[in-house]
Amino acid sequence: MPPSFAAVRERYLGDLVANQWYDVRTFGKKQRAALSPPAYLVELIRHTQVTAVEMHSHTPRSDGLIEPQRIAAWTNALYKKGYFRHGHLAVPLVVVVTDHDYIYSCDELQAVSDDSGLTLLSAAEVSTAHGHVLYYGSQDEVISSCDLRQPQLTVQPDGPAFLRQVAGLEGGVAVPAHPYRETSMLRELPGDEVAPLLGTVEILNGKTPADQNLSAIEYARKHGLRGTGGSDAHQISRLYSYLTLFDGPIRTLNDLVLGLRQGDFFPVHGEHLRFKES
Ligand SMILES: [Zn+2]
Ligand SMILES: [Zn+2]
Repeated sequence: MPPSFAAVRERYLGDLVANQWYDVRTFGKKQRAALSPPAYLVELIRHTQVTAVEMHSHTPRSDGLIEPQRIAAWTNALYKKGYFRHGHLAVPLVVVVTDHDYIYSCDELQAVSDDSGLTLLSAAEVSTAHGHVLYYGSQDEVISSCDLRQPQLTVQPDGPAFLRQVAGLEGGVAVPAHPYRETSMLRELPGDEVAPLLGTVEILNGKTPADQNLSAIEYARKHGLRGTGGSDAHQISRLYSYLTLFDGPIRTLNDLVLGLRQGDFFPVHGEHLRFKES
């Protein structure tokens, strides 16, 4: 019997803490070479249709250097090294662009997807008055009230009010980013009061010190919340350092939002999706 997605998630989250995979120092060349995917994760991927999603990345529309048009070439180079596909193993890949206070039009990223064959989806990292919140959705009310159609750094919605706004509308999910980093949500606000407004927090962030990722993991566990992982890459070489593995296919923003709402996902270290020995 192949392992269930939920069983693998619980086992992986346990191993994540025991092995300190939440520590961004594991991205060093030597440390990466020492990591290999756990056998039970490979079993899951072999028998279940999953999708690996890079949930957090930045382009020049905010403060990043990643041109969306270059992501596919970079990804192809990783395929050759045995990341995401090797032999009979293949994990479909999605990249979500989450610029600060800016959301690409779906059409613009769709055009890049069509050219490259890699699925790119548009979302945003909203600067609330209480820290950064990843917004996955395309609701007009959110986009216009936060003025996300043009690059800017002025609108600062109240944090809890933003979480309530997104929760109150159908078809979007708000996820506090790197919640324990300085000027982030769970440093700014009492965690016990924020928890009822949340379904998910970002528990693995590729730019966040280990102790702060660990605090987010412990917070999610304490409050029964799900956790995502994302690289927070501003340079293309940091893309895919952390990803989120979803149960089932993710091809559109609606699929992603539905997957987030259903909770069928868990964060993974990018090195655990490298199937070829290096
Ligand atoms: Zn941020
Ligand atoms: Zn970010």
